[in-house]
Amino acid sequence: MRPQLYVCCPRCSLVGPPERLDYTIGVLGENVDWDQPVAWQCAQCGHEADITEGDVLPEESSCACGTCGRAVECPADAIRVTCMGCGSTGPGPAAADPEVAAHLRAVVGLHAIELRVRAALPDPHP
Ligand SMILES: [Zn+2]
Ligand SMILES: [Zn+2]
Repeated sequence: MRPQLYVCCPRCSLVGPPERLDYTIGVLGENVDWDQPVAWQCAQCGHEADITEGDVLPEESSCACGTCGRAVECPADAIRVTCMGCGSTGPGPAAADPEVAAHLRAVVGLHAIELRVRAALPDPHP
């Protein structure tokens, strides 16, 4: 599996696995080539940004995957994590904080409304 990169979203301030991540694999075959642009999209609110190596949070914590039980390394602030073993996404260490969990629900709910509004409006670039 390709490396997971956890970034604190500049818009919703939540930390989680990205919705979309476009990067070039470096010469070693396993690391991200940071000399190339890396496009990132927040899975929580849909915000898109170009990220640099300095935006990536260290995986200094871990939690157990809710599906296969394997330990998932992640930042302590991660609200959601993706298991490298089975690929499923579940709650991260930060989800135990009720305030953060409520913020996640609000952000995800707002993003769902945004998507519905966008789908209902005529395409500005037909
Ligand atoms: Zn976000
Ligand atoms: Zn798993």
